[in-house]
Amino acid sequence: MAGRRIEVRGTVQGVGYRPWVYRLARRTGVAGRVRNAPSGVLIEAFGTETDLNEFLMRLQEDAPASARVVDVRVTPIPDEGMTEFGIESSDSAGSKALSIPPDLATCPACESEVFDPNDRRYRYAFTNCTACGPRFTIAMGIPYDRAATTMARFEMCPACRREYDDVENRRFHAQPNACPACGPTLRLEMLGSDGAPDTDSLDGAAALLRRGAIVAVKGLGGFHLACDATSPDAIRLLRERKQRDEKPFAVMVADLDAAQVLAEMTADEEALLDSPERPIVLLRGRPNGPIAAEVSPDTPLLGLFLPYTPLHHLLLRAVGRPLVMTSANVADEPICKDNDEARRRLATIADGLLLHDRDIAMRCDDSVARIMAGAPVLIRRSRGFVPRPFMLRQPLCRPVLACGAHLKNTFCLAAGDTAYFGPHIGDLETVGALAFFEEAVERMQTILSIEPEVIAHDLHPGYLSTRYALARQDAEHVAVQHHHAHVASVLAEHGRMGPALGVAFDGTGMGDDGTSWGGEFLLCSAGNFERLATFRPIALPGGNVAMREVWRVSYALLHDAFDGDPPIDRLGLFGAIPEASVRVVAQMIARDLNAPKAHGVGRYFDAFGALALGRPRSSYEGQIAIAWDFAADGYDDEPYPFEIDRSREPMQIDLRPATRAAVDDIVRGAPPGRISARFHGALARATVTVVRALMERREPLPVVLTGGVFHNARLTAEIQENLSNEYEVLRHRDVPPGDGGIALGQALIADAFLGDKGRCA
Ligand code: ZN
Ligand code: ZN
Ligand code: FE
Repeated sequence: MAGRRIEVRGTVQGVGYRPWVYRLARRTGVAGRVRNAPSGVLIEAFGTETDLNEFLMRLQEDAPASARVVDVRVTPIPDEGMTEFGIESSDSAGSKALSIPPDLATCPACESEVFDPNDRRYRYAFTNCTACGPRFTIAMGIPYDRAATTMARFEMCPACRREYDDVENRRFHAQPNACPACGPTLRLEMLGSDGAPDTDSLDGAAALLRRGAIVAVKGLGGFHLACDATSPDAIRLLRERKQRDEKPFAVMVADLDAAQVLAEMTADEEALLDSPERPIVLLRGRPNGPIAAEVSPDTPLLGLFLPYTPLHHLLLRAVGRPLVMTSANVADEPICKDNDEARRRLATIADGLLLHDRDIAMRCDDSVARIMAGAPVLIRRSRGFVPRPFMLRQPLCRPVLACGAHLKNTFCLAAGDTAYFGPHIGDLETVGALAFFEEAVERMQTILSIEPEVIAHDLHPGYLSTRYALARQDAEHVAVQHHHAHVASVLAEHGRMGPALGVAFDGTGMGDDGTSWGGEFLLCSAGNFERLATFRPIALPGGNVAMREVWRVSYALLHDAFDGDPPIDRLGLFGAIPEASVRVVAQMIARDLNAPKAHGVGRYFDAFGALALGRPRSSYEGQIAIAWDFAADGYDDEPYPFEIDRSREPMQIDLRPATRAAVDDIVRGAPPGRISARFHGALARATVTVVRALMERREPLPVVLTGGVFHNARLTAEIQENLSNEYEVLRHRDVPPGDGGIALGQALIADAFLGDKGRCA
């Protein structure tokens, strides 16, 4: 007889891992014990060498679907003469942070119970088990057990209790376990009339939706606004009431077959759609499908997702058509989560409310992902992923809160060798968003039991996240440059500390010279960076106004490329712009008045896209860039010419030759797709050329691709293809390339900075 001590690190708590180990031990004839430990679970196993080897092999090869094993460490220990295998109750010491997993999509076993007329959970919207159900969004405190969740007020009936106590049952220690006899219940309320309608809530909601009404549906991390995705009228009504002009809506479909009807999908995309995290996946919509064009005007991208709670499954089946399911809020306010809040805030938007009496502890929006250059890229990391930890390569010297950026904000809490992103907060533009940020930071600090001693924030003094950081007196502040943080975030994900050559392309971010950066080649380590190259800046006449009125940026681009004499008469884009407006913009540039220069690659996308597509305005961030990316499909023309100005420090990519060539193409009536392909080709080739030039006198370094521009599939693929033969290319895997991903990098940099300064203690 022999013994092994086995440490399993990763997300293995709250996902049925211990009972799974228990059953595996019983099957392989191994005795011992399993319990939760600070960074995962700890197993002590005793048996013959053969049985132990069998046990270990299966432990390493298999795991419950929702577990994420990071590593398994095995050390021999003496035999203790045990004859049974047991699950030891958690000692709460130390294991707090990891004990709360992300919310998990309904598993197949629970789904079939819900649709089985003979099952006691038939049509029960709150069915779950250890493999599925709410987790993070119902957690009030630690350790994660029922008493510390919003399920505390529901007392389990004897049947549920038996399941909960039976180690052989798949509901053993399933904290949110419930059934129609003892658990939460649904309720349909009509807004603008008294009392509930006299029908079954689900059937009533489905009937409303089929009639073209808007129903607010309480989900896992907040309310959705639902309406019939095949009805142009319903969607127009929703846009009007929600004050959202053109930004695409996500659509929930019943299953993979229904998704196939609406979008073209690769096997990778199907797998992503069907993953337990159930993100919204951006797919190529099939033309002339049943989805109303109003869902995603002017982009072939369609955001689809599958039901992830029994309520969604039941509702989708009852309605029998795809549903728009969009976060319930007005404009940039945070997603609505409480029943009273919904009655108040959604009164002017929804016709009915499909409510339930299980409270949502933490707002958590849906996540958004896309397959790019053969790998999934997270565009928004929230429900299904939060609070899954990142294991850092080396422990931080002090606990850190990193406050993130201004747009698409997320924050990060890190201590020891683990870092956690909070949920997607959104653009910190409103009082409501800032309140959500503060509420989420506080709640995450509690459930992770991390008291930050260091607060990292962006260099930009105007960001609300920066102001929040500076107002907190209980910790040391460290300001972090935006693009350095983007690069460090990739390094952290890959367990690296640098040095690396970071290619950080985005719309904007304050540089350490106070100007707007965003086309940066940075030699980075965790602690510091050197700016080696950038893009020739473009003036932004009117500052932020130019983000929406993109024709202004096009004008500035032409002004620069044609030495102050832009040929706007030959370009259709300017046909619809009043002459007086053009004159004002021209003067702003000529006199350098309210026309700050920006290096962001995103601005080049806007400027070229607007010119070639003839679209003067962008109604939401990235609208033109997305259309511009897709326009290039099927074109493979020679890249536009460009220059690299090595006389400057840092050296500059100069796209004036590309601008002049693009104008020639436009005047000659070339299709926008060809212009887009040549533009993307020029950006990719310029990037690769600069990377090679910078590597000339250096030991080869890994190249990091990051920043919101790398949400662009074509550019990412072209750069990656050309660099990966020569260099190791590091991209994001579990962190968004855009500003939703920078908080992790901020945390790493702040820690390294304090370490370098000898201020760790
Ligand atoms: Zn289940
Ligand atoms: Zn029950
Ligand atoms: Fe950025």
